[in-house]
Amino acid sequence: MNAIAAGPPVLVIEDEPQIRRLIQITLESSGFRVHQASDGKEGLARSSTDRPEAVVLDLGLPDMDGIEVLKQIRIRSTVPVLILSVRNAEQDVISCLNAGADDYLIKPFRQGELVARVKAAIRHRQRPEEKGAIVAGPVSIDLDARVVKRGGEIVKLTGTEYALLALFVRNAGRVLTHRYILEQVWGPSYAEESQYTRVYVGQLRKKLEDDPSNPSLIVTESGIGYRFAG
Ligand code: CA
Repeated sequence: MNAIAAGPPVLVIEDEPQIRRLIQITLESSGFRVHQASDGKEGLARSSTDRPEAVVLDLGLPDMDGIEVLKQIRIRSTVPVLILSVRNAEQDVISCLNAGADDYLIKPFRQGELVARVKAAIRHRQRPEEKGAIVAGPVSIDLDARVVKRGGEIVKLTGTEYALLALFVRNAGRVLTHRYILEQVWGPSYAEESQYTRVYVGQLRKKLEDDPSNPSLIVTESGIGYRFAG
């Protein structure tokens, strides 16, 4: 039991007792310490007192909107936040990702998926500003030298392709919405031009992926955006 007690603390904000219990069992069996809150107010209080290394946040809470909880957490903390959402609530998920959530899971989710996402979120937040090359499969990306290689060969990227790839690499593992990508790479006035992301992601895939039609590096999050699986 000592190993379990020593694991990273995760705060679960979820009003449905059965789901909360399931999440607790799942995370504890992977070595996390689980703190629980059953509404937004308690969740906000615990997000500062319990010093969690990740927060699992249900969007449908009895006392306040999950996105409001997220926004208040973000005012004072960069703790990774994973959103739990019901199906057909893409717009809510997108709003949360744009407001600084790291990832999302659609209910019902697989237990292994939850553990993997929590671990990834913690790992990515801990990673300081990258130095040297990042290796993802056959691709290596050196952000300092601005050199991208595939199988040892230099890949020529346009300025925009490079800016897009660098954004993905710096946010590896995170889901980035179309809007966020457009604002970061093209600027705020392009926030609605999601055809840009589709075209440029397509170009990057052609240059970097083994099988551009079945990508493993830049993965599509259907209806939401993209995730760099580095
Ligand atoms: Ca709920």
